[in-house]
Amino acid sequence: MARKWLTQEKRSNDELFDALVRNALEFVSTSIGHLQHKPKNAIVDLYTAVELFLKARLMKEHWTLVLSSPESGDLQRLAEGDFLSVNLDAALKRIKSIIGEKIGDDASDNFRALGEHRNQIVHFSHSGMDNPGKTQVRVIVEAWASWHYLHALLTETWKAIFKPYATELHVLNQRMMSQGDFIKARFDILKPQIEIQEKRGNTITECGHCHMPAAIVGETHSWGTDYACMVCGVDDTAPVECNAELPCPSCSTPFRFFHGDVHACPSCGHKIDTDLLIDLCTEHFAEGDAWCDQDQINIASCHKCECPRPSVFVIEGMWSCVSCFDRGWGAVTCERCSEFVTGDMERIQYFACHKCEPQVREDFRRMTESAQAAASTEGSEAPAAQANS
Ligand SMILES: [Zn+2]
Ligand SMILES: [Zn+2]
Ligand SMILES: [Zn+2]
Ligand SMILES: [Zn+2]
Repeated sequence: MARKWLTQEKRSNDELFDALVRNALEFVSTSIGHLQHKPKNAIVDLYTAVELFLKARLMKEHWTLVLSSPESGDLQRLAEGDFLSVNLDAALKRIKSIIGEKIGDDASDNFRALGEHRNQIVHFSHSGMDNPGKTQVRVIVEAWASWHYLHALLTETWKAIFKPYATELHVLNQRMMSQGDFIKARFDILKPQIEIQEKRGNTITECGHCHMPAAIVGETHSWGTDYACMVCGVDDTAPVECNAELPCPSCSTPFRFFHGDVHACPSCGHKIDTDLLIDLCTEHFAEGDAWCDQDQINIASCHKCECPRPSVFVIEGMWSCVSCFDRGWGAVTCERCSEFVTGDMERIQYFACHKCEPQVREDFRRMTESAQAAASTEGSEAPAAQANS
């Protein structure tokens, strides 16, 4: 009895999760479609997508977390859409307090601002929408920034959970990025203000996200420099430059390889791709760092891009990925799965590395389910071990 109920619940959970995500993806798509001619609709749709994705994340943990009051949970009513669901603020709080994952202030502030903007549009006539030319640019930039944070959550922080939708997310990201003309327009509008910042003694650098020379340089760390972009509103860190060179396998001329724009040898045009860079680095940079066994080849798997081949080498004193060109992370052997990986050290130690995370999550889900099954069969004839299998 209990088992049947469990499998049914499981299936409807997965179906509901999938429906939420598909719905959210659709709202991002319509939002991008509206950017140019219906900016109000673009904001409203994008905000809806943000809420749906956060709900989907909560849903993955447990379906009752999507309800405004989880204690009154009723899956049947939830499946029929008849429920008061959690709002943005409560969703952010639950993700932090129940799931134990922190969404950065940059991202949550951005989502809240988008929500306020959305409410103004829905509830009042939105005053900022009166000058269509300027408004359009502002809206696209706002959507661009919100998408940056949402995309990072879905493809980095929650990569394991949203992996089945990677292709759709990639296509949407390409469409959002193709709004580049508007970024240029925004840059032209802000140029005088950027110049004022420069005169005040601030250093301006190229933003890694919108590629405009509009990012104000902030704190500098050993692994990179923080910046805040005036054009696209993104706060990020620019990794420290790497000037190391490798000899071209065809003409032997050394070339600077550590940036994403090298696709051919500058001297002879020999094709350069990730596989070749990994081969060349294995030859020249496989010693690892002071923690590594010097007699071994020390190449870590990258948690950022999850390149199928280990792609992170110590180059100029820092673990550096030649697939995604991020650097400055630590590399350790995961105690759970024995893979040599980069990532957040605490997360690897107390939770999982990117290689074993899906398995750890699955084990955890099974454990919770069998605990629930044991609780629901209590007093009946079914032995607890059976619910475990
Ligand atoms: Zn930017
Ligand atoms: Zn060459
Ligand atoms: Zn990488
Ligand atoms: Zn692991």
